[in-house]
Amino acid sequence: MGVNVDVVIVGAGAAGIGAAIELNKTSLSFVVLEARNRIGGRAYTDRETFSSIPIDLGASWIHEYEPNNPMYSYYQKYKAHKQNDCDDNDDEEIINLDYDGQCLSSETEQQAKVVCAQLFEHLEKFACNNDEEEDQSVEDVIKSHYDQLVKSEGQRKRIIDSFLATVEVYEASNFATLSAKQWETIDESTICEKFVSFGYGTLLEYIVDQHKLPIRLNTLVTRIDTCDSDTIAIRTSSICSPIICRRVVVTIPLGCLKQETIVFEPPLPEWKRQAIFQMGLGLMNRFVLQFSEQFWDAKKTILLRTCTEQRGRFLYTVCLPSPANIIIFLITGIYAHELEQLTDAEILEQVMIFLRQIFPQSQVPDPIKSKFTRWSQDPFAFGAYSNYAVNSNEQTVKLLARETADGRVHWAGEHTYFNSSTDEWMHGCVHSAFQSGRRAALAIKDQLDSSSFSLSK
Ligand SMILES: Cc1cc2nc3c(=O)[nH]c(=O)nc-3n(C[C@H](O)[C@H](O)[C@H](O)COP(=O)(O)OP(=O)(O)OC[C@H]3O[C@@H](n4cnc5c(N)ncnc54)[C@H](O)[C@@H]3O)c2cc1C
Repeated sequence: MGVNVDVVIVGAGAAGIGAAIELNKTSLSFVVLEARNRIGGRAYTDRETFSSIPIDLGASWIHEYEPNNPMYSYYQKYKAHKQNDCDDNDDEEIINLDYDGQCLSSETEQQAKVVCAQLFEHLEKFACNNDEEEDQSVEDVIKSHYDQLVKSEGQRKRIIDSFLATVEVYEASNFATLSAKQWETIDESTICEKFVSFGYGTLLEYIVDQHKLPIRLNTLVTRIDTCDSDTIAIRTSSICSPIICRRVVVTIPLGCLKQETIVFEPPLPEWKRQAIFQMGLGLMNRFVLQFSEQFWDAKKTILLRTCTEQRGRFLYTVCLPSPANIIIFLITGIYAHELEQLTDAEILEQVMIFLRQIFPQSQVPDPIKSKFTRWSQDPFAFGAYSNYAVNSNEQTVKLLARETADGRVHWAGEHTYFNSSTDEWMHGCVHSAFQSGRRAALAIKDQLDSSSFSLSK
């Protein structure tokens, strides 16, 4: 069978873009097939809904914002390119509030920190000492300690719960599903991240423009056939005849793999299917409201709010000042799943009750515009990002990344990222997805360089 291209990359999110940039440096021919009518995947900036103000509906922070992160230098280049057009305002304030908008007692806050440190220490011990034992959920491991340490209702309990919920927000899943064996206490002093005010999706578009990558939009891959030992047939919904290639990089999200949206012929090996099943998948949604005026403090503010009901409800809120006048809620885990079942009007009602509770002194007007994401219902994502569910571990990520079909099908995406040499396991992020794509492309380059088959571009 004649070959059309050396390599097909499935998906034009960060991983697909990373793979394409690396292949662009070689003489191999390749094409990126993307199901959506846009690039960026789960890094998507909406520049239309909110009067031209760019709002990320997926990723919006560059995590590990340091010079060795490829997104760091792209961010710097974008800023230099746009000069004054690019707001780089890091003036951000984090405010912890009680459920009714009142300030927290700093003494009680301190007590809550001590309790959380004890709970985290208990988890660390479990993670270090229990190689032989079965994994358990974070919730199960801390439950009895929590009950002992957090006896009475009141502000102290609410603050402890909100500190715990902050970790759940980060993982986009509740403790009941997260692996205790994989627990690592986050050292807040080492966190270095950058809020991309012009939009993380915008940054990915800029990267694609810079590299002039061959991307075919609106092309849904439906089947990958590796039955022939030399070639791979890629079937899509938009082209009748299959695209024939030698290697493929599959970067579709873990959610799509769990839903088996692409048929593999022959079927994927059992170890790969197990890993797909085992790895956890979190859900984070963004509810974005724009108001005619700003009724909160002038700076860009992050509100962390305690609650009296389910832990973490409306915990994390980003307020963008005038002229944006925008409030963004980050909703995660079970609560995000629950709210996805509601209509926009029903969600708005809940959000407004919360807002009027937390700003009791202000006349909170109805919003002029609103947008609610539903990432678990998105047919090209089916969730937000991966995490360690009970019984998954670093080996699971390695299996997700491992090639199949005699090394001809390569796997990339945020759920596959690891770097054994530096012991980095930060899957779940845009930059890690990007790096995983580069890794897959380099592996293909090594394979095809040493074979005599490669087609020139
Ligand atoms: C609400 C939210 C907030 C987040 N916040 C952050 C953050 O602040 N910082 C951060 O670093 N990360 C964040 N993330 C995670 C980050 O967005 C992802 O880890 C990253 O974008 C994943 O990149 P990827 O290339 O692996 O997958 P994707 O970006 O999902 O790319 C995969 C691509 O494959 C396409 N595709 C799917 N099926 C097919 C098919 N059959 N045929 C062809 N194409 C297909 C999809 O349309 C998509 O474009 C967030 C995610 C969400 C949802």
